[in-house]
Amino acid sequence: MRNLLVAGNWKMNCGPGETAALLQGIKNSGVTIPDNVDVLVCPPTISLKTASEELQEAEDIALGGQNVHSEDNGAYTGEVSTKMLKEVNCEYVILGHSERRQYFGETDKTVNAKTVKALEDELRPVICVGESLKQRKANEHKLVVRKQVEAALIGVEEQQAEQLVIAYEPIWAIGTGETATPDQAQEMHAMIREVLADLYSQDTADSIQILYGGSMKPHNAEELLSQSDVDGGLIGGASLKADSFTDIIKIAG
Ligand code: 13P
Repeated sequence: MRNLLVAGNWKMNCGPGETAALLQGIKNSGVTIPDNVDVLVCPPTISLKTASEELQEAEDIALGGQNVHSEDNGAYTGEVSTKMLKEVNCEYVILGHSERRQYFGETDKTVNAKTVKALEDELRPVICVGESLKQRKANEHKLVVRKQVEAALIGVEEQQAEQLVIAYEPIWAIGTGETATPDQAQEMHAMIREVLADLYSQDTADSIQILYGGSMKPHNAEELLSQSDVDGGLIGGASLKADSFTDIIKIAG
């Protein structure tokens, strides 16, 4: 069976100083990470080295970037490469978050190029997909998300696909306090798994963690995580406080 993955997307919060403090808060909380739970934190790029140092003795907390470029190096002002992320011990990288699609011009094509590059360089992509409120109201949510998943995975081979994590994040639920109902989440996650089974095989689809993201908090985590195809959470706001993040870890266990 799949482990649950509890992942914190810190977005543009926590420079190195605050990163050290938050990770110390998580470590000092005394939380024991249950065997069936994987934990990931994704601080901003500038804080990854500090985070890596803080996590040296916390081997059960993995580190991830929030974005990466698809080239190895060169004249790409402001960007980071897969090698740079790996040098500071990142194992994962978030790709195609809706905020990057909305504000920074990411497209299905760039998300695909980054996914292929990350897998090639042994970084596990956390590929974000999700529909807008307008698309949901127009009953296009399934089609939109199916297309995003298919587009992100062009050229990804079955043996690489086991390294993937998919995060379903309905845009209308991000940072709004409005969460998808457990039924809505389950329906979309099951559909995403079907897409993965069509692309690869049922076995491979069953091995891939599909996370829910969008206002996941300690008070709603249990209901969401109890859905059979919800394999964890990609948590924004509630990952910025040691107690709420560790509460979700405990709930997942
Ligand atoms: P919130 O948990 O703050 O809604 O953010 C979700 C998210 O975008 C995680 O990537």
